[in-house]
Amino acid sequence: MTRAEFERRRQIVRGALRDSIGADFLRLQVETQMHPLLVLQLASEALGAVYRDIACAHQHGGSCECGWRPDLEHDLALLKNAIADSETDAAAQDLRHAIPAGNA
Ligand SMILES: [Zn+2]
Repeated sequence: MTRAEFERRRQIVRGALRDSIGADFLRLQVETQMHPLLVLQLASEALGAVYRDIACAHQHGGSCECGWRPDLEHDLALLKNAIADSETDAAAQDLRHAIPAGNA
């Protein structure tokens, strides 16, 4: 797979997950009136449960043969960094869309 094709697929997955998780967050937050951070915390728990299910399928003797072997410590660090990086990306994007004030 070329780098460009990899990036194209990555953007498809990123966009689809943002859309579906975002829509679920909004719907559930409106329905339950729970604090937004609590809903996000529950979303993180759900992601952890999904991780466990997928990791289980990749343990020795699991059903998937793609070759990935889960490493909880490494994988959690990767996921934490992804959250931190998305915040950095959002801040950078905010700056790109900011209208410069004044002209010094
Ligand atoms: Zn697999």
